[in-house]
Amino acid sequence: MRYERPGSLEDASAMLAGEAGISRILAGGTDVLVQMKSEIVEPDLIVDLKHLGGMRSIVAEDGGFRVGAAVSGAQLNEHADFCALWPGVAEALDLIGSTQIQGRATMTGNLCNGSPAADSVPALVAAGATVRIQGTGGTRDCPVADIPSGPGKTTLEKGDIVASVFLPARPERAGDAYLRFIPRTEMDIAVASAAVSLELDEAGVISAARVALGAVAPTVRLVEDAGKAITGTKLGDDAVAALVAAVEAACSPISDKRGTVEFRTKTAGVLARRAARTAYARAGG
Ligand SMILES: Cc1cc2nc3c(=O)[nH]c(=O)nc-3n(C[C@H](O)[C@H](O)[C@H](O)COP(=O)(O)OP(=O)(O)OC[C@H]3O[C@@H](n4cnc5c(N)ncnc54)[C@H](O)[C@@H]3O)c2cc1C
Repeated sequence: MRYERPGSLEDASAMLAGEAGISRILAGGTDVLVQMKSEIVEPDLIVDLKHLGGMRSIVAEDGGFRVGAAVSGAQLNEHADFCALWPGVAEALDLIGSTQIQGRATMTGNLCNGSPAADSVPALVAAGATVRIQGTGGTRDCPVADIPSGPGKTTLEKGDIVASVFLPARPERAGDAYLRFIPRTEMDIAVASAAVSLELDEAGVISAARVALGAVAPTVRLVEDAGKAITGTKLGDDAVAALVAAVEAACSPISDKRGTVEFRTKTAGVLARRAARTAYARAGG
């Protein structure tokens, strides 16, 4: 196995594109090193990008934040302005593993590992976050929602590197929230999860809403009907019931030892309802 620390993102992309065998990017390593140790994957090439410019920085941009691909969850959760703007994204990262794991784990790694149960991904999808990708042909921006394509799979092509994640600006009256269900109090993988991001008008009516679910489909899923169900409302009982119905209709989970189809579907509705109420309160509603 080769370990490389290229001098630029362009060189890294070319290196990854030219590798005939299996390659992996080393961010925090909390997925990739565990997979190597358990012999799930034996990479021929490991490319470390953490030393490159911008990889570890959180920069204000257009009223939002551009987060370098190697920024850890712990680093983000210590950034007060980021947490104030996107508390739901911050709380999703704060659920990943333990203090030690959060010191290494990145949201880019969480996204690119391709797990349908990845905690930060529903929050990023609900937030309308985008990624900047360095490929062999240059850079392009892409919604986070378009990256996962199946369990352990993404739409990233050979040579593609996520350089940064962008969380956009939001109006003053806006809030988001993320919740997951796990059988233990910590250090477990979501059985179901839900993220809600919404905006309010002056009268407290929801003017825009996005709802995303985790662990109830082969990929994290944006549920447009659930967002529509609460838009134009003050999140009264009828709106919440319509939200829950839309969420349950969007679930197509598997049954396994951690939860049945019925349990996961019901739980996703409960979590979406609670996350919507928290997001609404955070928005000042
Ligand atoms: C004890 C333990 C507990 C955990 N608990 C949770 C949990 O509660 N919730 C949860 O969601 N996850 C959990 N995880 C999984 C893991 O910590 C997260 O998925 C983490 O966010 C992965 O980030 P990383 O930076 O460590 O990624 P890495 O392991 O470095 O990389 C993961 C994958 O992403 C790819 N990748 C990395 N960077 C890039 C890039 N810039 N561009 C393109 N591809 C890239 C790599 O090639 C690799 O395939 C846990 C893991 C452990 C070991």
